[in-house]
Amino acid sequence: MSTLCKHHIPCPICGSADCHELYPDTLGDRLPDFDYDFSPSHRQSFRTVRCEHCGHGYSSPLPADLYANYVDVEDKEYMRNREQRRMTAVKVLSVIRRFKPGGALLDVGCATGDFLDVARESYDAEGLELSKWAADVASRTGAHIYRQRLSDMPENERYDVVTLWGVIEHFETPQVEIAGINRLLKYGGLLCLWTGDLDSWVARFLGKRWWYVQGQHIQMFTMHSLEKLMQENGFVKKEMSRYPYVMSLRSIAKSLSRYKAIGTLASLLLDNSLLGDVRITLKLPGEMFGIFEKVAPAGKM
Ligand SMILES: [Zn+2]
Repeated sequence: MSTLCKHHIPCPICGSADCHELYPDTLGDRLPDFDYDFSPSHRQSFRTVRCEHCGHGYSSPLPADLYANYVDVEDKEYMRNREQRRMTAVKVLSVIRRFKPGGALLDVGCATGDFLDVARESYDAEGLELSKWAADVASRTGAHIYRQRLSDMPENERYDVVTLWGVIEHFETPQVEIAGINRLLKYGGLLCLWTGDLDSWVARFLGKRWWYVQGQHIQMFTMHSLEKLMQENGFVKKEMSRYPYVMSLRSIAKSLSRYKAIGTLASLLLDNSLLGDVRITLKLPGEMFGIFEKVAPAGKM
């Protein structure tokens, strides 16, 4: 009956095979959900392990070419929160502009293009997106959208800024992808990203109930494993802070739906009230917002 052939993999950051299990496999023979509906199946994940050597968390064993069918993914639920993603983009871009006020920008994994659309006000911005549906929506911003894998991009030191918003935790081989991004950037160019911190108190406190534990998230960085990856690929850290995430109270209630009692209470209070439209900026512990600068070609440090 099983059709999924999974392979054990060494640590994607340091190569060590020594690890211990953090969370067991709850997917079994299924592939993970690739949307954001926060349903119970959305929370099922591959076995997650933690490297004994560098502390990085990652999924192992994994099926080969996990994202082969990602091109067909549609996520209509994702469209509901466009405005709050645009407001988040305004806050994030105000930080990036302090380091690099203009130039060519590539948003890798640009989804429906909400960040891209705001970024175009300051940058000559392009996107890369594999989901055909999301790339079609993003194209309506007028920005050019590459519908190809990062590894198929021409490596020509063309960009001043490359951004990865909630994307690096999906990479199957982060050393390869980050080296590829290095080659796309000019010297002095910026790699800006947002991802979770497995060492944060919130990740430790919630354990397998931490919101980053999803089948589609196969890398779980710590500040140490992220900085190690960046240093080895020719980047230096410029800034590390908490990601400023604008959310309506209704969206917060939706996200909390994975925590049964508090989620039910929040939905009862907010689903049908005007209060649900109130937006606030969250800077949650464990949400890393990193800005790194390219100082040398990959592998030449
Ligand atoms: Zn490791």
